[in-house]
Amino acid sequence: MLKIDLHSHIIPRNLPDWTKKFGYGDFINLNHNEDRTADMMHGGRFFRRIEENCWDEKVRMDEYTNFNTQVQVVCTIPVLFSYWAKPKEGLEVAEYLNDHIAELVANYPKNYIGLGTLPMQDTALAIQELERCKKIGLVGIQIGSNINDKNLNEPEFFPIFEACERLGMAVLVHPWNMMGKSSMEKYWLPWLVGMPAETSRAACSMIFGGVFERLPKLRVAFCHAGGSFLPTLGRIEHGFNCRPDLVAVDNNRNPRTYLNKFWIDGITHDINLLKYLLTLKDSKKVCFGTDYPFPLGDLEIGKFIEESDLSTSVKEDLFSNATLEFLNLDKKLFI
Ligand SMILES: [Zn+2]
Repeated sequence: MLKIDLHSHIIPRNLPDWTKKFGYGDFINLNHNEDRTADMMHGGRFFRRIEENCWDEKVRMDEYTNFNTQVQVVCTIPVLFSYWAKPKEGLEVAEYLNDHIAELVANYPKNYIGLGTLPMQDTALAIQELERCKKIGLVGIQIGSNINDKNLNEPEFFPIFEACERLGMAVLVHPWNMMGKSSMEKYWLPWLVGMPAETSRAACSMIFGGVFERLPKLRVAFCHAGGSFLPTLGRIEHGFNCRPDLVAVDNNRNPRTYLNKFWIDGITHDINLLKYLLTLKDSKKVCFGTDYPFPLGDLEIGKFIEESDLSTSVKEDLFSNATLEFLNLDKKLFI
C-alpha cells in the first residue's frame, strides 16, 4: 500500500548566520556536534538538540523504509518561519529554505514532496515567493496558526490565500508561537495545551472570517488532527447558534458546514479519537501524518493505523488518497 506522510519537518544541514549577516534578531542557526547531532541555536541561545534525521535525506528514507513508507511531504520547522523579521530578510530566509526543499524534491521525486514557507509579514513579498515556490516545484506552503499574533482572517492575509487558490497551491496550517506560552512554560504546556488550542484558533478564524466561504477552491489542511477544533465542535457550533451577535458577524454559515471543506492530518496518538474524527469527516479528508522527526510525533510512522481494525479502503484513503487529493497530485507519480 502506498504510504505518504503529509506532515514531516526538515532543515538544511547548514544555515547562514543570519543574525550576524542582518545585524539583529534571533534567527536560528545550527552548531554541529561530533556525534551527528546538532544544537539548534535561537539567536545564540540553546533551543533544542536535533539528530541527523532532521537534515539527512538518506537517513530519513531508511527510517521510513523500516515502516514501509515511501513518501514524505516535507516542510520547514515552524521556529524558522521568522515572521518577526524585516520583510526583505524574511524573504531571504524563506528563499533559502524553499530552495533547499526544491532541490531535495528534484533529486528524489518519488520520495519527497515539498511545501514552502512564505514571508507572511509582507503580503506582496509572500505572494511573490508563493509564485516562485510553484515554479521551483513545490506544491503548497506551510504557514503558522497565527502571524505575529494576528489571526488568519485578517484582511492582509486574504490576498495570499486568494493567490494560493488561483495558483492551486495547498496550505498546511501548523501551530506555533503558542498563545499563553509565557504563563505556562512548565510541564511542556505550550506544546501539550497551547498547540491544540492554536490550531483551533486558526480553524475558527478561517471559518468565522469567511476565508473558506469566499475561496471555495482553496485547499487547506490543519495539523495534529485539527487540534482541539473537532473534539470541541459541539461547543463551537452551540456558541455560533446562541450568540450569533458575537460569532456570526462575518459569516453566517454554521461552522459544521465546512467539515469536509478542509483536510486534517491523523496525528491523534489515539485510535479511538481517530475513529471519532472519521465519523465527522470523509476519510478522503484525513491524511496520514507523523510530525517526524520530533518526539511528539508518531515515530512508529503509522503503526497504530496499520494495526487498527479500520477497513482497507479507509486505510488507503488515510495513507495516500487524502494527501494526494489535498495536494492535487496523481498517484502514478509515486508508483
Ligand atoms: Zn509539525
